[in-house]
Amino acid sequence: CGIVGVIGKADATQVLLNGLDKLEYRGYDSAGIYVNDQNGHDYLVKRVGRIQALKDAVGPEVQGTLGIGHTRWATNGGPTEANAHPHVSNDGRFYLVHNGVITNAASLRQQYLTDVELHSDTDTEIVVQLIALFAAQDQLDAKAALRKTLQLLHGSYAFSLIDRDHPEALYVAKNKSPLLIGKGDGFNVVASDALAMINETDQYVELKDEEIVTLTKDAIEIETLAGDKISREPFTVVIDD
Ligand code: GLU
Repeated sequence: CGIVGVIGKADATQVLLNGLDKLEYRGYDSAGIYVNDQNGHDYLVKRVGRIQALKDAVGPEVQGTLGIGHTRWATNGGPTEANAHPHVSNDGRFYLVHNGVITNAASLRQQYLTDVELHSDTDTEIVVQLIALFAAQDQLDAKAALRKTLQLLHGSYAFSLIDRDHPEALYVAKNKSPLLIGKGDGFNVVASDALAMINETDQYVELKDEEIVTLTKDAIEIETLAGDKISREPFTVVIDD
């Protein structure tokens, strides 16, 4: 399973599909991408099975500068298209990909989401519906809603989140699942490993457990879960492909 995300590249779709190809070795049962052109158009494509099936389903109209992609190894809910990621909140605002397992998803659902209709059997959908709930109910922006949600979660995660109402940023966070930032010139990428980003950059920024990162095309802002800002220099990795 794996995650890839990009902001600020004209060929976001290609960056995501290349990245998913490179993450194939990690194993998966389904795959999906969400692409946004930061100008009012967006696309969600998911398929069960090979990455090639996803590629075949991605038409030429699927273009943008911001996006997230995922290969899924099912833990909660079978390998179906409905359970494939990205997952979207019922208000259509938030798109989320996730690697890992949220162990208290069922109790969070009981506590917060009894009135919310779910469209999959995944722990991940619980998370994206919680983000949307807190954003709406407490008037929080995406980062604050993500932070509030992360503080409730038990288990492991690498997340990449897009707020459709504010497509100028990409939010990521991790705990006990791998995730690495790739720093570009006028763009930024994120993925489960460096291999998925070697075509884009050789500059990487490490991400530690329980950190939240806001990526824009020009900036990488790292914070702790408590909101303290962290400054961390990129390192260079050269991989012979
Ligand atoms: N727990 C999530 C699911 O079952 C993510 C699995 C993964 O790491 O791919 O959908």
